[in-house]
Amino acid sequence: MAVKVAQEWLAICGGCEVTILDLGKTLLDILPKLEIVHMPVLHDHKLFGQTGEKNNMEIPQADVGIISGAVHTKENEEVCKQMRAKVKTLIAMGACACYGGVPALRNLYGVPEVYEMVYRKGVTTDPAEPPSKELPPLTDKVMAVSEVVKVDVMLPGCPTTPELFAEAVTSLLEGKPFKLSDKSVCDECPTKREKKAAAGMALKRPLAKIAEKGTELSSMRCLMEQGYLCLGPATRSGCGGHEKVPRCIKAYMPCRGCFGPLRHDANPMVDMMGALSTIGIDPKQILDRQATFNRFCGGQGRLRPMPAPKK
Ligand code: SF4
Ligand code: SF4
Ligand code: SF4
Repeated sequence: MAVKVAQEWLAICGGCEVTILDLGKTLLDILPKLEIVHMPVLHDHKLFGQTGEKNNMEIPQADVGIISGAVHTKENEEVCKQMRAKVKTLIAMGACACYGGVPALRNLYGVPEVYEMVYRKGVTTDPAEPPSKELPPLTDKVMAVSEVVKVDVMLPGCPTTPELFAEAVTSLLEGKPFKLSDKSVCDECPTKREKKAAAGMALKRPLAKIAEKGTELSSMRCLMEQGYLCLGPATRSGCGGHEKVPRCIKAYMPCRGCFGPLRHDANPMVDMMGALSTIGIDPKQILDRQATFNRFCGGQGRLRPMPAPKK
């Protein structure tokens, strides 16, 4: 019997849904085993009836529920509760659903300030009152799905990877346990570490090519030791697919932390300040440390409004 799947998206960019399509042939192997009962990206089943005629949300009963995106409106909160009530296993897909993701950068500000910036101070917007009709109100802060309901499986990454998605779905279909890696990106990184401190090194910006295409990763020095900000030490591994080579490192770029913190209660800012200091880089060179180190995981209390500057 096919496994029923329901999917919904909250505050997203849509990249995680594209990841499902990126499965390619594997998707064709998995699809006959699934019955999709609700999935806005490819299935014409609407939340409030086909013409919006219903007042209450309708998510059909399913075995597996998938939510991508962060919770940033009261409606998003309700979708999480509805989905949780209708499914046996709930998957949070992508950094936004797992940790708040990029939308949770909004947590650096209060809601009135966000409205002010978007509707009154936006350089491309004529100042106006924030819309109040027929739009769900914003939540006080942007949340990961697990801050609203219990989540059974997390698939981190911005976007998550096709391999991880396939592994999770296959494990569920076969009744096998699914577990994320508990190693860091550094643990799977093939670059060469010389472990020499470089006191006073200035951080470089990776605007130009760091290495020529084709350069053996094992002959390239660790990017952080070269002075590039790489969040590998504070980020969970798992983005490298079957090869187990971190996705950005493979492209000669530093890790930006999209697989989220190593532990649920970890704060990448604290971990990275330590890692940078260890090799002699002063973390105070990074002016927006809160946002830089928590770019993908500002939910779960990691990002809060900044105190107003002293006058
Ligand atoms: S995790 Fe990244 S790719 Fe996925 S929805 Fe959020 S912003 Fe988009
Ligand atoms: S800091 Fe970055 S480049 Fe260096 S080992 Fe860790 S992941 Fe690799
Ligand atoms: S290397 Fe870091 S930023 Fe890049 S995909 Fe992996 S976890 Fe994400």
